Order: sequence, then C-alpha cells, then structure tokens
Amino acid sequence: MIISDKYLVSNKEDLEAIEEVLNNKKLSGTSDVIEKYEKELASFFKSKYAVTVSSGTAAVQTALFSVGVESGDEVIVSSNCPCMTVFPIIFIGAKPIFCDVNRDNFGLNLDSLNKKITPKTKAIIEIPMWGYPTEVNKLYKFSKSEKIPLILDLAQAQGTKLKDNYLSFYGDISCFSTHDRKLIATGEGGYILTNNKYFYNLAKKFIKFGDMNGVNFGLNYKLGAMQAAIGIKRINNFNNQLKKRKENARYIMHNLNNPKIKEFEIVKNGSPNYYSLLLVLNFKNNSKIIEELENKGIPSDIKRYNYKVLYKYPIFKKFKSMCKNSEDMSLKITTIPVHPAMQKTELDYIINSLNSLK
Ligand SMILES: *Cc1c(COP(=O)(O)O)cnc(C)c1O
Repeated sequence: MIISDKYLVSNKEDLEAIEEVLNNKKLSGTSDVIEKYEKELASFFKSKYAVTVSSGTAAVQTALFSVGVESGDEVIVSSNCPCMTVFPIIFIGAKPIFCDVNRDNFGLNLDSLNKKITPKTKAIIEIPMWGYPTEVNKLYKFSKSEKIPLILDLAQAQGTKLKDNYLSFYGDISCFSTHDRKLIATGEGGYILTNNKYFYNLAKKFIKFGDMNGVNFGLNYKLGAMQAAIGIKRINNFNNQLKKRKENARYIMHNLNNPKIKEFEIVKNGSPNYYSLLLVLNFKNNSKIIEELENKGIPSDIKRYNYKVLYKYPIFKKFKSMCKNSEDMSLKITTIPVHPAMQKTELDYIINSLNSLK
C-alpha cells in the first residue's frame, strides 16, 4: 500500500468560481474578488484585518516589513522551522537569532528567549509546526512586556486553537500559506491577519509597490484573482476538513498500542488542526524506524524534507547557536497523514504497521 500525504480538493464549485472570475475579465490582484476573500478570511478567523499575498514566504516578508525590521536588526526564531520562515529575514539583511524551544513542544523557551534579546531585536517569530499549538498566550504577554512585535508563522497552523481562540488572536501579525500542501489550498498563495490597523496599512501598501506614490517602498506580492476565488470556496469547507482530520488522528491514537510511540504533546487547552498527526518515537534508532515506515508506503515529512534543525544546513551554518531541546526534538518526531481523503483501510494499515514496530 502507498499512502498519499497530499490532499487535493477539487469540486464543481471551483470551476464555477474560476468561470465567474474569467467572465468578469479581472484576473489581477486588484479584482473585487480579492476584497471579498480578505473579508471572508478576516471574518472566519475572527481578525480585524486580512491581506492576501502571493505566498506564505511573501506573507513572512510582508510581516517583517510591517513591524519595521530593517537591515542590521535581529529577529529571534526557533531552528525547528522550515527555511521559508528564515530566508525572508536574511533577504532583508537582518540576522536570524536561533532560540531554543520547550522540551516537549515548538514554543520558544522563555528562559532562552530572555537571554537572546538585545537592543537590536526587532521581532520574534513563533512557528507552531505541523499545526500543534504552542503557548502563544504566554509568549505574547512576554513580547508585549519587552515591546517587541510577535509574528506568528501559522502556515501549518490554520485552524489551530488555544483556549478556543485561533492562534492569531495571540500575536501582532500572523502569516499563512495556501500552497497546495497547506490546509486552505489555492495552489500558491498566502495571507496575513492582524488586529493592528497600523501594521495592516503598511502591509496593504507594501504588497502593491508602496501604492506607487513615490513615497513608500514596496514590492508586488499581490495574490491573483483566480486563487482568491478558489480560496473562498476552500473556506466554506474548512471546518469539515478539520473535523475529519481530528477524527482520523483520534482513530489512530485510540488503536495504537505500541509503548514506544506516543502523540506529540498538545499544550493545555490547545486544539491542533492535524495538518499531520505528529508522533514521538522512542526507539533505539528512530530514523531507521521512519525509513521502515517509508518502505511500507507510509510517508513522513521528516524524510521528505530531510528535517533537522536549520543551523545544520550549510546555508544557515553561520547563524548556529546550540539549541538542545530543538535538536532532541528533531530526532524523535515523525508525521502521519490524516487528511480527509484517507480511507479506513489506510488508517488500519497505518495502525497495524505502527503497532508492529519493534
Ligand atoms: C509552507 C510554509 C511557508 C511558506 O509558504 P509558501 O506559500 O510555500 O511560500 C512558511 N512557513 C511555514 C512554517 C510553512 O510551512
């Protein structure tokens, strides 16, 4: 059996949405459909403002610009995230400062964070990987007391909640991707959410050449109208998708009886979106186990992306700062697909395969 880790929605509604855009003859990022999509995103995620952008990476860069990160500044970030969160920092000419995470979750460790703050720190970025919530409420309190803006990279955490609030509730500005692999998928695309009018206005201008008024700086990070039209349809079905993912994850965990495998920590009052089911392995050689699962047709993001702490890759080596918890965590986790297209036979196959691992 080969299990797909990719969930692609396609339905009749998509064609209707695209046809409507084509008939309107406005395909660019200034079409009315963009405004409609932004309104729906803001309303769904209970945020004051939404700005759609061309990718998740563009969202991160827009957020950094909006909070005022400039060349020579420092941005604190965990080393457990993908390169896409850190490249925009480097591109601005700022320096990524890798900070350790907590022992059992992806939240920045507040003690380590406290030690990393300098007068040059201009932003903190938290990245709840694979949609598992972190204690962003505590982090936000801390960042506010330090007067440093908190950016949340929620590309993998769309729909993830803490205390019944979407995580974006606890940050100054939140970044999302709608790439094909993400939960609200439009092919390529992204958006930011914020309750801060000042950041919103800066972001809005930045993504369209600073409004071309000869005063503001900006680039073109606008989302196209067709992606927006598809995005609107995706929001309609999003809660169903989340429900199904949770059911699949619960079904696997309920039937799992291998003492060497447990689910990744869900912080108190947290609710993951189950972008993936994340497992913590306790075998002698965890990477061999991941390989074994892969050979059985059960794919893992750890293998797909050669996942390790970022400073172990050549391009990030010069930013190395030892993060012990981050390293330990990267060596013991693996992902299991639980998307809505999974069949019961596939879930049972995964359960049996996991239970038989020694
Ligand atoms: C996917 C992802 C991004 C980048 O999104 P793109 O739309 O592919 O540019 C950024 N951060 C995280 C955590 C992601 O998972």
